[in-house]
Amino acid sequence: MTDHAAAGTPLTRLPGVGPKVADKLSRLGLVRIEDLPFHLPLRYEDRTRVRRLGELASGVDALVSGEITASEVTGGRRRRLICRISDGTGSLELVFFHFYANQQRQLVRGVHLRVFGEAKPGPVMLQMIHPDWEIVEPDAPLPAGEFKPVYPACEGVAQSMLRRAIGAALDRPETLTEWLPGTLLQKLGLPSLDHALAAVHAPGPEADTQALMDGSHPAVRRLAFEELLAHRLSLLRLRQAHQASAPAPVLGDAHGPIERLLDALGFALTGAQQRVQHEVARDMARGEPMLRLIQGDVGSGKTVIAAMAALMAVSDGWQAAIMAPTELLAEQHERSFRAWLEPLGVRVGWLSGRSSAAERRDCLAGLERGDIQVVVGTHALFQASVAFHGLGLVVIDEQHRFGVHQRLALRDKGRAGLQPHQLVMTATPIPRTLAMTAYADLDVSVIDELPPGRTPVRTVALPETRRDEVIERIREACRAGRQAYWVCTLVEASELLEAQAAEATAERLAEQLAGLRVALVHGRLSAAQKESVMRQFEAGEVDLLVATTVIEVGVNVPNASLMIIENAERLGLAQLHQLRGRVGRGETQSSCVLLYHPPLGEVARARLGILRESNDGFRIARRDLEIRGPGELLGTRQTGALNYRIADLLRDGDLLDPVQAAAPELLRTRPQACSELIRRWVGEGERYAQV
Ligand code: ADP
Ligand code: MG
Repeated sequence: MTDHAAAGTPLTRLPGVGPKVADKLSRLGLVRIEDLPFHLPLRYEDRTRVRRLGELASGVDALVSGEITASEVTGGRRRRLICRISDGTGSLELVFFHFYANQQRQLVRGVHLRVFGEAKPGPVMLQMIHPDWEIVEPDAPLPAGEFKPVYPACEGVAQSMLRRAIGAALDRPETLTEWLPGTLLQKLGLPSLDHALAAVHAPGPEADTQALMDGSHPAVRRLAFEELLAHRLSLLRLRQAHQASAPAPVLGDAHGPIERLLDALGFALTGAQQRVQHEVARDMARGEPMLRLIQGDVGSGKTVIAAMAALMAVSDGWQAAIMAPTELLAEQHERSFRAWLEPLGVRVGWLSGRSSAAERRDCLAGLERGDIQVVVGTHALFQASVAFHGLGLVVIDEQHRFGVHQRLALRDKGRAGLQPHQLVMTATPIPRTLAMTAYADLDVSVIDELPPGRTPVRTVALPETRRDEVIERIREACRAGRQAYWVCTLVEASELLEAQAAEATAERLAEQLAGLRVALVHGRLSAAQKESVMRQFEAGEVDLLVATTVIEVGVNVPNASLMIIENAERLGLAQLHQLRGRVGRGETQSSCVLLYHPPLGEVARARLGILRESNDGFRIARRDLEIRGPGELLGTRQTGALNYRIADLLRDGDLLDPVQAAAPELLRTRPQACSELIRRWVGEGERYAQV
């Protein structure tokens, strides 16, 4: 945050703002003077008219006036000053727990007051505790009515200070240049920047403060639009810089090898897979680096698309790196890639943090010489010591687990002057609106079709108290030759705690299900141990696999038809949906049991209800977004795109289309304005990544 200050004018330049105050303001995200105008009020105090005391309701802020009819100091140890005022229609008590002698001398019978505060029920009549007050002449005219803004504040930051600072910032028009073209604003029916800021910070007596507060007011929408646009521009710039920094190899369509791969697969690609494969092949045939995201629900068949892309790279003499977020998933990919590509003469290597020193040395040497053509691994592939002979393609599975930074770091692993193509795959179905902002630097392909022969998973939510029934279900399923998963989840716990909980559960289940073969897999096992357990499960030598969320992505055992998820109420819908995707991979009817701890809160009930009703990851993600907000859905704030000051993706979702439409043209025609907008809203430091 502090480097923001370098890019603007430090707050300490404002009169009355010293380093201490500036430090406090920084906690509100206010670092530069230029930030202040975009700190919007939470609400407004209605000082537009004087209300009659007889009509005063409790719980609302109101401006009132009246004559003091009684004034006294009461109480022994907890002294208080109580004044009663009356305006002929009713009375009100003003209560002061802290007061000075001269206030007591001023607030005496017969004096006329104008008072602003919130009325609350008192023992005798409505009261205002510590209201704002001033002494006025009995018939003094009301000064021009106003709505007084109340800003989000924090400890040690008074409203009066915020108002003064923001007022001072608004008085520096040189920092509030209008960067949006008038024609664009006109087309969208949005006000100019100065009108919008005036409407928000100093609404006139006729203003619709409700609309200002809920964000439906054109002034707020205008600011939200500008903010979303700035973020979009920033990501497009990032993408441009990336693509311009170096060309990528032009890769042919590798027709022959791909035909042979398809023949050997044993299944035909779905229409969606074919479409996406063409999109990928087209990107790779251009000399610009591909930056493509494949979104596809669990089981939609993304891996084989990655294999075909790798084949394209290899066929033209380049290398491909496939990266997965977990050891287990990387291992599974390695097996798929070996099975698919080795028969075609492609040499597949393996690199993870748990490779032995010898394995690692061999792999690094093979990559450097070019003997290994496709390498599968974990983030160990990012390390500086990994050098490629000619890296032409990087595939990243489950992008949301990697930062944009890491993705960009791989760019530098290309061969002299060329950078690799990038293919990113995610099963986290992100609603279109969110994808556009979170992944604006990527083109998006969607696999919106599951391979044939899948039966939707039947989902039920059951309280913990019915655990015994659930155990019976497992027994039945396994007797019928099926396999089952039992997923132990702890929220925010360490890998160690999670592993311990899973161990205890596995022991207990093994006792309760005597006769069944129960195995355990968790993140604390060595790669070899995990792999051996998974192999046994795949081979049908294990009936019930007790696991932590390490099985969340990728694991593929079609004979497993039952999944139990503990503590389901505490997991995100997207995560639950992904876990559930481990079953329903074959033709048998599969089930998923969501175990929860009763009583279930209303939100939790609604959320589990969504999972029961739908198997459509996109629908689930949209509902999850509505209920939990975007930050949680992506599981991380790494993109930075979600930390908006004013915009709200749910509220302002309809602005995204106009933002998307306007951005490219603006970049082309007004580069200077774009830089200024990015500086204003995103900051100099490019929150997303360093290019
Ligand atoms: P995900 O998109 O979740 O990564 P996978 O690539 O792991 O899905 O595919 C899930 C399973 O479906 C794998 O066993 C894969 O071989 C198989 N598969 C992929 N495409 C098809 C298809 N078109 N028809 C039948 N099975 C397919
Ligand atoms: Mg996958």
